[in-house]
Amino acid sequence: MMAYENYDALIVGARCAGAATAMLLARKGMRVLLVDRAGYGTDTVSTHALMRGAVLQLHRWGVLPHLLEAGTPPVRSTTFHYGDEKLTVAIKPANGMDALYAPRRALLDSTLVDAAWDAGVQVRHGQTLVRLSRRADGRVCGGTLLDAAGDVTHVTADLVIGADGAGSTVARLVGAETLREARHTTAVLYGYFGGREPDGYEWWYRPGVAAGAIPTNRGHHCVFVAMTPDRLHGVTSAGRAALFSKLVQEADPALAAQLAGRTPDAPLRMFGGRKGFLRQASGPGWALVGDAGYFRDPITAHGITDALRDAELLARAVVTGRPEEYATVRNELSLPLFDVTDAIAAFDWSVEEVQALHRALNQAMKREVEHLISLETTPVIEEVLL
Ligand SMILES: Cc1cc2nc3c(=O)[nH]c(=O)nc-3n(C[C@H](O)[C@H](O)[C@H](O)COP(=O)(O)OP(=O)(O)OC[C@H]3O[C@@H](n4cnc5c(N)ncnc54)[C@H](O)[C@@H]3O)c2cc1C
Repeated sequence: MMAYENYDALIVGARCAGAATAMLLARKGMRVLLVDRAGYGTDTVSTHALMRGAVLQLHRWGVLPHLLEAGTPPVRSTTFHYGDEKLTVAIKPANGMDALYAPRRALLDSTLVDAAWDAGVQVRHGQTLVRLSRRADGRVCGGTLLDAAGDVTHVTADLVIGADGAGSTVARLVGAETLREARHTTAVLYGYFGGREPDGYEWWYRPGVAAGAIPTNRGHHCVFVAMTPDRLHGVTSAGRAALFSKLVQEADPALAAQLAGRTPDAPLRMFGGRKGFLRQASGPGWALVGDAGYFRDPITAHGITDALRDAELLARAVVTGRPEEYATVRNELSLPLFDVTDAIAAFDWSVEEVQALHRALNQAMKREVEHLISLETTPVIEEVLL
C-alpha cells in the first residue's frame, strides 16, 4: 500500500529529543508527524540521571507531575567520592524545582510522546524513514516511511527533523558536516538493583574507573561502572557480571559490599563506547536535535538534558523563523560541555584533576540553566514562520 501525506514538520525519532520537539511545535499550532521505527514505551540504553536543565524543561512543559505520579523518586543531593574523599552537595530549590529525577526511559519517553499526542501531533511507531525527498533546488521537502508490513508513506513537509539518535539516518542522508569529534570514549556496564535507600545521586572516581548509583523507578538503583573500552575486550556476556563486581570493588568497596549477593533485575547492559561529535545543526529544510546532532560520552550523564534543551532551542528557532540562532546557541552551550566530557572520558586523570574537571562541568551546566531560565522572559512569537 502507498499513501501520500503533508505536514509542516516530519520528525524522525520519538524519544526525548523528538517527542519534546514535536510537542513544542504542535503547541505553537504546527501540523507535525512524529515517527519512530521502535515501539511505543520501549526502553533504551541509559543510566537516566537528569540534570537541572532537564528538570527545568520538564517542569515548564507541565510533564513533570506525570513522572512523579509514576513513582520517580526525588533526588535531593549529589555525592561525589573522589578516592576516599566524600563531598555531598544539596540540590538547592530554585525556579520551581526542589529535586532532580532519573526516570526510566520507557516512562520518560512515553510521557513526552503522550504530551505530543495531547498537543495534536500525529504519532506513529513502527515506521522507519528510509529516504528523503528534495526540491529541484536541493532543499529537503519530505521523506519516505516504511512499516513492517512493507507499506510506504510519502510525506511532504516544510521541515524534516532528525531526532533519530547518534547513528542518525537523517544526518547521513543530508550529509551533515561533523564540526567537532571527541578523542576519547568510555565503556559502561550497568544494571538495576533493589534494596538500597534512595539517597541521591552518588558518583565514585578513582584512577581508571568510575561508578554511579542513581535512584530510579520501582525502588531500583541504576548502578554503573565506566572504564576505558579496552577493559571490555574479550569479555563474554557470561563474564560481564564478574567484571562488573571487580570494577565496583575497585571504585568503592562499600558499594561492592552493599551489592554483594544481590542480582540485578535483568542481565547487565553494556555500552562498548562511541566517540562524541557535534554535527551541523541545520540546513535547507532540515535540522538535527538530540544525539542526532550532538553526542557526547555518557560519563557526564548529560545527553537527555541536552536533548530537552535543544528541543526548546530548535522549536523556538523554527517558530521565529531564525534557524541560524539554533545552531549558534546550541554550539555555544554545547562546546564547553563537550570538551570537558572528552577530558573526563580520557580516564588519564588523578582524583584532584577530575575534581577540577567537574568544577568546569558545573560552570558549563550553570550557563546552560541560566540560558534556559532567560528564555522564560523571551516569549516566542505566536505566529508560525517557516
Ligand atoms: C550507557 C549510556 C548511559 C547514558 N546515561 C545517561 C544519563 O544518565 N543521563 C543522560 O542525560 N543521558 C544519558 N545518556 C545519553 C542519552 O541516552 C541520550 O543522549 C539520549 O537517549 C538521546 O535521546 P534522543 O532522543 O536524541 O535519541 P535516542 O534516544 O537515540 O532515540 C532515537 C530514536 O530514533 C529512532 N530512529 C532511529 N533511526 C530511525 C529511522 N530511520 N526511522 C525512524 N526512527 C528512527 C530510534 O528507534 C530511537 O527510538 C546515556 C547514554 C549511554 C550510551
